[in-house]
Amino acid sequence: PNDTVLTPQETARLRALDARHHMHPFSDQAALAAQGARIFTRAKGCYLWDSEGRRYLDGMAGLWCVQVGYGREELVEAAARTMRDLSYYNTFFQCSHPYATELAARIAEKTPKGLDYVMFAGSGSEANDTALKMARFYWTARGEPNRQWVVARVRAYHGVTLAAASVSGLEPMYAQFGNPVIPTLRMMAPYWYGPGIEGGMSPDEFGLTAARQIEKAIEAAGPGKIGTMIAEPIQGAGGLLIPPDTYWPEVQRLCAEHDILLIADEVVSGFGRTGHWFGSQLFDIQPDIMTMAKGLTSGYVPMSATVMGPKVADAVRNAGTEVAHGYTYSGHPVTAAVALANLEVIEREGLVERVRDDIGPYFQEQLRTLSGLPHVGEIRGVGLLGAIELVRETEPRRFFDPLGRMGLAVRNHATANGLIMRAVGDTLILSPPFVISHAEVDELIALARKAILAGADDYAGGRIQGLPR
Ligand code: PLP
Repeated sequence: PNDTVLTPQETARLRALDARHHMHPFSDQAALAAQGARIFTRAKGCYLWDSEGRRYLDGMAGLWCVQVGYGREELVEAAARTMRDLSYYNTFFQCSHPYATELAARIAEKTPKGLDYVMFAGSGSEANDTALKMARFYWTARGEPNRQWVVARVRAYHGVTLAAASVSGLEPMYAQFGNPVIPTLRMMAPYWYGPGIEGGMSPDEFGLTAARQIEKAIEAAGPGKIGTMIAEPIQGAGGLLIPPDTYWPEVQRLCAEHDILLIADEVVSGFGRTGHWFGSQLFDIQPDIMTMAKGLTSGYVPMSATVMGPKVADAVRNAGTEVAHGYTYSGHPVTAAVALANLEVIEREGLVERVRDDIGPYFQEQLRTLSGLPHVGEIRGVGLLGAIELVRETEPRRFFDPLGRMGLAVRNHATANGLIMRAVGDTLILSPPFVISHAEVDELIALARKAILAGADDYAGGRIQGLPR
């Protein structure tokens, strides 16, 4: 599309401004400035175009969020219409509007039974902060204010606000910003291909071992301290870790036994990504609180939600006083209208069923054709989530040392060839839009194959910086 191709001078001008004025999330700013930002100017369906006219197949749906694909007129219309009718009003005190009310009710229809009381926010991080605060509120209301400790997991990602970062499990976040503000104990991630293999366990044995770490956390914290656990049904940014079948039933059992509130972070796994409305339904989890963002609006506008089940909802409803929490943009009319339009598209086009029965299984089958390529260790995935973990040797499994260089090399080949994948360490992640066609899945897999082969070639030739052969 010529109208979005900028002149080389204009691209250079924007890059210079960007380097000077724009701090990017999770980026090495100096390296980025030296390299120059990639400037995207257009998106449609599953494709993006940059300012130099290069086309990319977006294997990540943005940041795991563009469920319905880019450029859907209905969502655009919903935003424009609502901006004209009610550009803004808040939901503080006794105020509401049809958009927030309808959306809360629509979400309640989709969540597991009993989770039907919704508070809105603007991002996944804020939704998790709300969840953690509501858990605190619940324990205080129950007369057990000391149960402020939270069990979380290594490799978890719950966001970057102070509370959400406290319960995340990615080390650089603490190295740079210090100690968590929420007292947190972190248990092992259900990462069978890592510690499970090292322990010589079958996936099912390992699932139980990883789940039973809750008991160790309870012991370490001491009696009457732990009130809450937070977990993603499938850990996304931690490397797409899909727990063994034994894991979630045991976690659920232990939470019930020890009277621990369970917060399911559905920011990635929600809104059809796994072929179910929520990851909790895939694993038959009954959380006390669920958080969601991303797919709620397909990323068209920022919005998130925290959904409470009866325990927490009753504490809030029966507080007998104002609950001192909420955001200026909680339930923003424009974002709520876009979310409603997004849910309508997902339902009308049967996109969740499509992920479950048609394109999801096809994607999984095609993804597995990559096994047997050099350095391809484990391939894992469900629905439209996929991961390819690269290792130095597969039998016995031996990771690259240092970790991450190979993943980056392959990801860079993919980008250069027009496929956007993400690398977490040496794991390549895919999470495409739900509207991806069979032919586009074929294209995606072919481009991934080419990138893996190119990376393997670089490694064999000793051309990956910092990664000795
Ligand atoms: N929770 C999970 C599971 C996520 O993957 C993310 C972001 O990727 C977040 C929370 C934070 O969401 P946000 O970046 O919208 O604050």
